[in-house]
Amino acid sequence: NKMTNEAIAKGERQLLLEARAKFVEKFGREPAAAASAPGRVNLIGEHVDYCEGFVLPVALPFLTLVVGGYNNKEECNIISVLADGQELMTSFPTPSVVPLKPGSPAWANYVKGVVANFTGILRGFDAVIVSDVPMGSGVSSSASLEVAVFTFLEALTGVRVNPVKKALLCQKAEHEFPGMPCGIMDQYIVTLGQKDHALLIDCRSLEATQIPIDTKDIVILVVNSNVKHQLTGSEYPQRRAQCQTAAEQLSVSSLRSANVKDLEKLKRNGCDELVFKRATHVVNEIHRTEETANCLRQNDFKRVGELFYASHDSLSTLMEVSCPELDQLVDIMRPLPGVLGARMTGGGFGGCVVALVNREQVDDVKRKILSEYNGSPVFFVCQPSDGARVLQLT
Ligand code: ADP
Ligand code: MG
Repeated sequence: NKMTNEAIAKGERQLLLEARAKFVEKFGREPAAAASAPGRVNLIGEHVDYCEGFVLPVALPFLTLVVGGYNNKEECNIISVLADGQELMTSFPTPSVVPLKPGSPAWANYVKGVVANFTGILRGFDAVIVSDVPMGSGVSSSASLEVAVFTFLEALTGVRVNPVKKALLCQKAEHEFPGMPCGIMDQYIVTLGQKDHALLIDCRSLEATQIPIDTKDIVILVVNSNVKHQLTGSEYPQRRAQCQTAAEQLSVSSLRSANVKDLEKLKRNGCDELVFKRATHVVNEIHRTEETANCLRQNDFKRVGELFYASHDSLSTLMEVSCPELDQLVDIMRPLPGVLGARMTGGGFGGCVVALVNREQVDDVKRKILSEYNGSPVFFVCQPSDGARVLQLT
């Protein structure tokens, strides 16, 4: 059955009903404030954020939604209801009483980091979190949670924060509390996303540009491979270090400042083979990302598809961050009618493939993947969606 392999967004109304009912059940009163924030998928620009390149994510229709209200105490009580109904719970004193520190449970660090970095004065509050953003699948449930909590605190206190500042504070929260040295992409798109647009983010200047996507005839199909290979954990820092080495050998501050001629120079100067491969990916991927943004503006989806395949092949053979499952998904899709392009998205070694597919052929494509993929895929058909917002409770 196709439906069991399909992740359907519940939508804001449904999630708000669920969160409200749970809040009333747990705290015995109506919530006073509410906010939501989406997940995201990166269309192209992979493993280039730490080289000051461009990334091009879209916000997804999946949401994290937070409701709550002041409790007239000096403590914060937060319940998160997971997709399977499991309830997580955390309590901590307001930051004005005891400065917050990271600790256990691990999930609460995403919330605490945001509370600790919020710009306004906080009194004690109770809150319920519900979400249909798949967790740990590479669609950034973490940034969705952070930005949803931050936006909820804005709704609760009436303090409104500039969206770019909000994204930067949520990134800081993820660095300080869960201890994840993430780039700026996730918090930016989750905060700044707009319906029917991708966001071209310049990771050097931190400038962000809305790129319209005409989805009349095409869909963005995300296929979750449902695998996550446990590596040593050194893969990501290794790639970063190799790119830094290439930049140093070229006497530039980051590979953003390198071009194709510089790659020849690296080779001539006898640079390490792996360093050369990583640099080649980064320099070309940055160009592909800028070109993709231009092609989307012109509805040249055929060319966007070619750039997706080129990106995947480069991530697989030069960056070496793919895996057999992601390669298989892309190889299944490559010859299919209606598929314009496909590539792994996210850090790699598992997670999702993102593809551009003709709208009327998407069901055939899913069927083919279901019958050929050696795993259990989950599909999301993704309409580019709005970023975080305060919700009305009346
Ligand atoms: P991704 O951001 O790609 O989904 P991460 O590993 O960065 O994966 O973040 C996933 C973690 O974020 C989860 O393990 C959990 O600790 C936390 N998290 C995300 N969403 C929620 C939620 N709704 N409730 C509680 N914790 C959450
Ligand atoms: Mg994350």
